[in-house]
Amino acid sequence: MAELVPAPFPDLVTRLYREPRNQDALFELKRNRWYAPPTGGPDLSVQFHDQRAGNPLGPAAGPHTQMAQNILLSYVAGGRILELKTVQINDRLTIGRPCIDLTNVGYNIEWSQELLVEDSIREYVAGAMLVHMFRFAHEATHNEPHVPASGLSQLPGPTGEVIYDLSVGYDLAGIRSDKIRAFLHSMRDASVLVDRLRDEIPSEFAAARALEYPSCLSNSITLSTFHGCPADEIERICEFLIGEEDFSVIVKMNPPMLGKERLEHLLHDVMGYTELAVNPSAYASGLAFDEGVQLCRRLTDYATARGRYFGAKFSNTLEVMNHRDFFTPDNNVMYLSGQPLHVITMTLTDEFARAIGPQFPISFSAGIDAQNFPAAVACGFTPITVSSDLLRPGGYGRMGAYLEKLASEMRRVGAGNVDEYILRARENGTAGTNQDAAARNLSIIAEEVRNDPRYRADKNRKIPTRVDSHLETFDCLTCDKCLPVCPNAANFTYPTPITAFDYHDLVIATDGSWKPGESHRFEITETMQIACYSDFCNECGNCDTFCPEYGGPYIKKPTFFGSVATWEKAAPRDGFVTQRTKNGGWIRGRVKGHLFQLTVNAADGCAIFDDGAAEIEFAIGRMTPNEVNKKANGEHHVNMWAYHTLRHLYHGVHDPSRINQVNSAAHVAESRS
Ligand code: SF4
Ligand code: SF4
Repeated sequence: MAELVPAPFPDLVTRLYREPRNQDALFELKRNRWYAPPTGGPDLSVQFHDQRAGNPLGPAAGPHTQMAQNILLSYVAGGRILELKTVQINDRLTIGRPCIDLTNVGYNIEWSQELLVEDSIREYVAGAMLVHMFRFAHEATHNEPHVPASGLSQLPGPTGEVIYDLSVGYDLAGIRSDKIRAFLHSMRDASVLVDRLRDEIPSEFAAARALEYPSCLSNSITLSTFHGCPADEIERICEFLIGEEDFSVIVKMNPPMLGKERLEHLLHDVMGYTELAVNPSAYASGLAFDEGVQLCRRLTDYATARGRYFGAKFSNTLEVMNHRDFFTPDNNVMYLSGQPLHVITMTLTDEFARAIGPQFPISFSAGIDAQNFPAAVACGFTPITVSSDLLRPGGYGRMGAYLEKLASEMRRVGAGNVDEYILRARENGTAGTNQDAAARNLSIIAEEVRNDPRYRADKNRKIPTRVDSHLETFDCLTCDKCLPVCPNAANFTYPTPITAFDYHDLVIATDGSWKPGESHRFEITETMQIACYSDFCNECGNCDTFCPEYGGPYIKKPTFFGSVATWEKAAPRDGFVTQRTKNGGWIRGRVKGHLFQLTVNAADGCAIFDDGAAEIEFAIGRMTPNEVNKKANGEHHVNMWAYHTLRHLYHGVHDPSRINQVNSAAHVAESRS
């Protein structure tokens, strides 16, 4: 299984400052997909617990909130309440791969964080610091005083306010453990880590060291419990988090609370997803509806008495039997998200809100997209989080359309802020409290979505189209779909010259003399190529789903590791690692089990290609060897495809005209040497 490896903080900071200036993008998210709050209103800000956020939208705890760069991208694209990926005591999970199937509606077998808890702490703090740099970049001028900051956005005002909401799981013993308590305390007071990371900011961006980074990352938690966790245990966990740890808490509810009959009527009879079978055990355990209402009442009183807030999130994913061949067959169940879950969860939320009363705070996540987001805001939900839709083409960049749609709906009904919008969205000025209006909107909108054909199975059968071609090391359709659909920004682009030439392998005789061997053709037909930064890739499979060619970008495109250590650990998997030095650099490759290295000596104008059995020196740019040194006995055939591949990869990924994670790291290393 591919392991995620957090990038060194200096490399991330370097990329944050250099990439936008160089190519108007950040972690490959183009500037035109960065969210720009509407000038002159309306005001999209909302209250969440005791804090204000620039808007109610954010990524759900999941693939978009695990790594530091994910947190930055979530913010840059418009998210303002970021639910950080669920942290739990078992941080050595083995999750099957691929784990995300967004072929149409959305299934996953994902779970909590894949990083060690201490790495999650660092990623969350590093991500929040990157967001802060992004927001206040105008205060952090580059080392050239006449150059204005970094070309980053300036979001110092209320529209830029961001809230980080923690997510922890899954049972009382784990949550009370020293490890998880240490996590909670680090998020409450991250000052030591902030200072350590501040010291790591490269001197080139020294002004960023002077920014005042928030040391309290979060004071709220969204609790995820095991599917089937008994009510009593959920209540004890909430009491612990509120009473002993002083956090406001949202508890996640499960779709089966709606009851088997009602849920399956919606799923099968109303929406037509007859192929989906809910795991029967999902009904037999976990919180029942009435139990949930009682529990929420008691915990609301418990939190209020302690000056904290309590609410519920609708909902978890729905556990269904694995009827597809996307995930490995040992996965008997998978978790449904997307369009069908939206209808089920809106119905459940409406039932619950009617039972508990309109004043009860509700956060929402289930099949949210740009079209239904304004309606979810009209229901008073805060936050409204999203995951599946951000895995579709456009990725994080899809969030801008949600907020534009909301702003346009608000203007249409003459609402200057979210409270006014709730009052006017469906009832246009009807009297009553804002909470009453939100509850009435919810009943109306739940009925609307049940009747809306767009959530039905026949509207959600379409699968991404494939063309009849297979990915190779170089060249593809260059559609760029694999870039934004990757939640970790693992896929990246690098430039190459268009080239085509014939070359010969080398045959080195026993006595060391050599002659040309078999002839081949080497061709590159595109000026922009795709590669994958392996340390950021957990092989979730999502880029394969949306790539129109066969093979999977993360499998077939060159994979670059962040260090020799991660490259060696990944053996026998194919991949490359490269570094630059003052006078050149090197690239090592492992291709079908064979190791190759190209060492470039720019000062001498030569490069040495080493395949383990021979060292061959070339003048840079020439195809005829200057010198051949055989290291092994007997005749040896040298695969010169590897040589030409290494040199094009080396020059491509280090080309300063296109900033990526590989050359950002190389830039940091070079500045230090
Ligand atoms: S590169 Fe592809 S497989 Fe790897 S994390 Fe990104 S989307 Fe998933
Ligand atoms: S690898 Fe696939 S998705 Fe990525 S640019 Fe090429 S064709 Fe498009």
